[in-house]
Amino acid sequence: MRSYYAQIRSLLRERPDLRPYLKHCRECRILFFTDPRNAGRDDLRCGFGCREAHRRQSNTRRSVSYYREHPDKKRLQNRNRYLRAIPPGLAGEENPLSEPLPPILRQVRVMVSLIEGRQVGLEEIVVLLAKKGRQPRMARTRRRAYGGRRIRDRGS
Ligand SMILES: [Zn+2]
Repeated sequence: MRSYYAQIRSLLRERPDLRPYLKHCRECRILFFTDPRNAGRDDLRCGFGCREAHRRQSNTRRSVSYYREHPDKKRLQNRNRYLRAIPPGLAGEENPLSEPLPPILRQVRVMVSLIEGRQVGLEEIVVLLAKKGRQPRMARTRRRAYGGRRIRDRGS
């Protein structure tokens, strides 16, 4: 966790313009970057569990009252759910990959999108991380900035 905050601090030093997108989760107070569309909001929940928990909670509340009125729909839905056998947590999500993604990947995606000023896809993040292994990207950038003569990253 400390290194997560260290990354955020060093990113903000290099890119103070990203400050408006850094938010505190209203539930757990963790810092995270959000999509530019949410820049003006202060009621956001983090993607490390709070957003998901809140969504589950309000979904449950909504469907409990709905299915109390329409008990037949509930039976039908349960049957469909059984037939499709969706892995829990994936239904209706913008998840293009077959496996559930760790929340940190979504956060990395937001951060990389902000840094590069474009929408970076989750697949791209997965490929990027697989290519670079566990080497932290910003640490490399800093090392290069102080000592190295190379300007361009090879291969990117
Ligand atoms: Zn949170």
